[in-house]
Amino acid sequence: MTTSTPAGLIARYKTAGGSAVDVRPHPALVDHILAGCHGCHLANWSATGDAWHDTEAMRSWAQQHADECSAVPLPT
Ligand SMILES: [Zn+2]
Repeated sequence: MTTSTPAGLIARYKTAGGSAVDVRPHPALVDHILAGCHGCHLANWSATGDAWHDTEAMRSWAQQHADECSAVPLPT
């Protein structure tokens, strides 16, 4: 896989399809934790104002999505 590692990456989960779901601080929105799938480009985020809660929520989402996502990363 050639997916680069973005700055501030919190966690990365390998998907069933061989791609990855990244959890990281939102690059544009302060106090948002973003989870994004490189395979199907589905994204989710949390912004409760509690960074720990947001991180845990997105880790959980990312883990679940990684288990379910069979999208194959496309060459760019
Ligand atoms: Zn996906």
